[in-house]
Amino acid sequence: MSAAEGTGAPADGIPADVTARAAQLRAELDRHNRLYYVLDEPAVGDDVYDDLLNELRDLEREFPPVRTPDSPTQRVGAPPLERFEPVTHHEPMLSLGNARNEEELRAWETRLANYLKRLDITASQFSYTSEPKIDGLAITLTYEDGVLVRGATRGDGRIGEDVTQNLRTIGSVPLRIKGGPELIEVRGEAYLPIAAFKALNERRAENEEPTFANPRNSAAGSIRQLDPALAAERPLSTWIYGIGAVRGLDLPTHMDEVGWLEEQGFKVNPDTAHHRGVEEVVKRCHWWEERRDELDYEIDGVVVKVDEKELWRELGVVGREPRWAIAWKFPPTTATTVMKRVVWNVGRTGHLVPFAMLEPVHVGGVTVSTATLHNEEDLARKDVRNGDEVVVMRAGDVIPQVVSPKLPRKNKSARKPRPPRECPSCGTPTVKREGVWTICPNRTGCPGQNWQHVKHFVSKGAMDIEGLGEKQASVFLDQGLIADVADIYDLTEARLVEVDRFGETSAANLIAAIDASRSRPFKRVLYALGLPGVGYVTAEALADHFGSIDRIHEADPEQIVEVEGVGPIMAEQIAENLGDDATWALVEKLRRKGLRLESDPSEQRATGGPLEGKTVVLTGTLPELTREEAAALVKGAGGKVVNSVSKKTDFVVAGESPGSKLAKAQELGTAVLDEDGLRGLLAGEGPGEDE
Ligand code: NAD
Repeated sequence: MSAAEGTGAPADGIPADVTARAAQLRAELDRHNRLYYVLDEPAVGDDVYDDLLNELRDLEREFPPVRTPDSPTQRVGAPPLERFEPVTHHEPMLSLGNARNEEELRAWETRLANYLKRLDITASQFSYTSEPKIDGLAITLTYEDGVLVRGATRGDGRIGEDVTQNLRTIGSVPLRIKGGPELIEVRGEAYLPIAAFKALNERRAENEEPTFANPRNSAAGSIRQLDPALAAERPLSTWIYGIGAVRGLDLPTHMDEVGWLEEQGFKVNPDTAHHRGVEEVVKRCHWWEERRDELDYEIDGVVVKVDEKELWRELGVVGREPRWAIAWKFPPTTATTVMKRVVWNVGRTGHLVPFAMLEPVHVGGVTVSTATLHNEEDLARKDVRNGDEVVVMRAGDVIPQVVSPKLPRKNKSARKPRPPRECPSCGTPTVKREGVWTICPNRTGCPGQNWQHVKHFVSKGAMDIEGLGEKQASVFLDQGLIADVADIYDLTEARLVEVDRFGETSAANLIAAIDASRSRPFKRVLYALGLPGVGYVTAEALADHFGSIDRIHEADPEQIVEVEGVGPIMAEQIAENLGDDATWALVEKLRRKGLRLESDPSEQRATGGPLEGKTVVLTGTLPELTREEAAALVKGAGGKVVNSVSKKTDFVVAGESPGSKLAKAQELGTAVLDEDGLRGLLAGEGPGEDE
C-alpha cells in the first residue's frame, strides 16, 4: 500500500491504519519482549515473534516517520527487573542482524564490502571469524585490576541486572585474571549443558515441580533469581566470546581477543575459526548445521564477525545491530500449529503419558505430527486443549514438545483433555495416585509398560545396548523372545537369526553389545531398573550412599531420606517399590545374569576414612586445590560433597569470594574451614579450636 492510498491520511502522509498497526505491533512486541527476556516465559514461538518484528521493520522502512525512538526494532531485550540492582554497561550490549540463508549472508558481505570501499579498504584488507551462537543468557563480567567486581545480564542493552552473586557460583567464571588490565568487561553467554538440563528437569519432575521448556529458559531462570544457592545447584557453564569496554589493553583482531581471553582462563569456544572470504564462511555455517545435534549445548546459529577490530569502529552500529557482525540463523526450532487432540500412552512406571497429535508442521528442519506433553501435571499447567493453536518446539535431539497454547484461544468451549479410565495398552482400570498421576496398576502384565521398560533399560544412560532399539524391543516382546528385561541376557545369535531382519552380523553385534553391558556400574543398573521416581541423578546418589542393592533393599524410608536429593515421599516410594515381590524377583533374576548390583570399591566412598559420614560444602576459590581435587579428597576420606548448606552440613570449606554459602554457614553455625583446615581434617585432626 502506498501512503497516498491510505484511509484518512494525516498531514505527514502516513495512512492512519499504518500508524495504528505500527502502534499495535510495538505494543505486542513489547509484551513478548517482557515475557521472553524479563519473565523467561515466552507465550509464542520465535517464528511468530520474528514475523511480528519483520512486519514492523517493513512498515518502518516504507514509512520512516512511524519509527519511534523506543521502537522494538531499535532496542535490545527489555528493561531489567526491578528486584535486581541496575547496572549500566560501560559499552552497550547489542543484538545481531540475521541471515537465514546463503543469499542473505552474501548480501551482508556485499553491503559490508561496499561500505568499506568508500573508506578505501579493499576485500584483501579484512577477513572473517565464525563461532557458534550459543542459545543461553547473555552476560557481561567486569574485572577491575584483574578482580571480578560485577556480573550482569544484558537487560535492555544499556542497563542490565546485577547478578554477580549468581555468576560467581559458576565454576568456569574466573574470580581473578592474571593479566587483568585496569578495567575490562568480557562478554559471553551462560548456559546449561543439555545433559544437565535433562537431569534438572528429571529431578524437578521427580519432586513434582514444573519443568523448564528448554535449556535457555532454565539457564536464564537459574541466573535471574535471588538465591545464589539455587544457581549454585545447577551446573551452569559459560562460553566467553568477546570484550566490551576495556582500559589498558589493545588487541587488533577478534582472534587475538579470543586467544587473550583463553590465556586469562576464560572458557572460550575451541571451534572459533578464521576465514579468508565469504565462501569459507558459508561452508563453515553448513558444517555447523550438520554438527549442531552432536554438541552437548544448544546453539541457534553461527556468529560471523569481521576479524579486524579497528574496522568495527569504522563500520559502527545500525539501530541495535553492529554492521561488523551477523548471525547465521538455523531453521527455527519453534513453530505454531493446531493440536488435533491429546492421546495417552502408558509410561514405564505405569504413569499415563499425554502426547499431542498435531497438524503436521515443519520445525527444526523436519515435519512433526506428534509432540510430547511430558506428563499430566505439565498438561494441566500449560492448559492446552483439543483444537488449540499451539507452539511446538523441536531442538537438537530433544523430542518435539508442545510449549504452550496460543492465547486467546479461538474455541472458548474447548474441553480440557482427561486421562482415560482404562489403560490404553492393557485395558486395566486406571487409578489416580497422590492427586497428580493417573496410573495403570498392572505393573508386570501390561505390554505397554514392558515395552517402555525395555526401551529405558537398554537406553544410553542405562545399560546402553546398541542395536536394541524400540523396534527390536517390540518385536522381541511380541514374538515372545523376551518377557522382561532380564531375558535380554538369554538371547543367542541363533535365536536372533530366526527373527525377521536379523542377519548374522547384526545378531553377533547385538549379542556382543549385550555382553558388554554386563559390566555397567551398579548406579547404571539401578537407573536401568526404572523404579518410579528414580532418575539417573537419584540412582547415582542412592548407589553412592548405600553401595549395593541389598543395602537399599534393607533400608527403611528414614534411612533412604538421608540420601542427597531424596525427600520423604520419594523415600517411601523407593522402599515400597523395591519391596514389591515382582520387582525384587526381577532384581534376583538380573543378579543371576551377572549384572553388577553393588558399587565397585573404586566408585564407593571410602569407609573408615576420617570424614566418614560427614557432609562437606565447598565454596569459593581455594589457594591450591581445584574444586574437583578438593571433592575427590573429601570423597576419598569417606565424606560426601554436597552443593548447598543445610542443617545436615558438617563443614563448609571456604576459599576466596565464597558468596552466600559462607553467609548461610555462619547463620546456621556450621564449622567453616579454609584449605589448611581441610587438609588437617583429611589428616585426621579435628577442626581447629577457633573455627
Ligand atoms: P539474538 O539472540 O538473535 O542475537 C544476539 C545475541 O547473541 C547476543 O546478545 C549474544 O548474547 C548472543 N550470542 C551468542 N553467541 C554469541 C557469539 N559467539 N558472539 C556474539 N554474540 C553471541 O538477538 P536477541 O535480540 O537477543 O534475540 C532475538 C531472538 O530472541 C530471536 O530469535 C527472537 O525470535 C527471540 N525472541 C523471542 C521472543 C518470543 O516471545 N518468543 C521474544 C523476544 C525475542
